[in-house]
Amino acid sequence: MDPKILNNILVEIAEFEELLLRANQELKHNTDLTFSLEELQSEYEADAAEAASLNQGAKVTLHSLENEITQVSELLKVKEQMLVGLTDRRQVRAVNDEISGLKLRLDRLEDETISLLDKQDLLKAEATESQCESRAHGTKSLARQETMASDSMALTQKVKHIKDDVQRLISMLPPVEGRAVGRLREKLDQAVVHHHKGACQGCFHQLPLQQGIAVDSGRTIVRCPSCMRFLVHRSWR
Ligand SMILES: [Zn+2]
Repeated sequence: MDPKILNNILVEIAEFEELLLRANQELKHNTDLTFSLEELQSEYEADAAEAASLNQGAKVTLHSLENEITQVSELLKVKEQMLVGLTDRRQVRAVNDEISGLKLRLDRLEDETISLLDKQDLLKAEATESQCESRAHGTKSLARQETMASDSMALTQKVKHIKDDVQRLISMLPPVEGRAVGRLREKLDQAVVHHHKGACQGCFHQLPLQQGIAVDSGRTIVRCPSCMRFLVHRSWR
């Protein structure tokens, strides 16, 4: 095969391999982004769940405080009634001591209830806000993920077509070069690359000056002495 024709096929392979690389990068980017959106969403959900559980915990505590207040108040009433029929001074003093103890306990319980009620308003607001945030992010994130999923589907199709094109071009090469390109593609993401300022774009090995010139002429087949990739000039199209 005329080296010029062979070179032209390699030039086309290089173009397709670049497209393939870009499409695969976009696919990876989509996958990474989907993953981080999902992670962010579970963080939002965890925050909302925590706020809800704190709010629920405050409700439960408040309920048991109310029960205790009722019990202590009833006990207080009983003790105050007991006092009415008592004549023994020692007994009177003992009941009076109990009554002041109960009153003290009632005061403390009421203080606790008031401060918890204040706190509960805040907890309730936080729980609501957190849930709203989580829902809003969820909706946005879902829409974004749907777009990315359809992008990814299109990209996957594109990748398949490019691979078919590369395969078709490889089959047009003479067997020796065809096998060499195939082997390189098994190991590396690109079998045919360009050079930039005399450096192989596959492994960045600096090529001897003569080799760079030979690549640009397109009249001989040049391979990088370091990574063995085929080197071609950019498409003239
Ligand atoms: Zn190289």
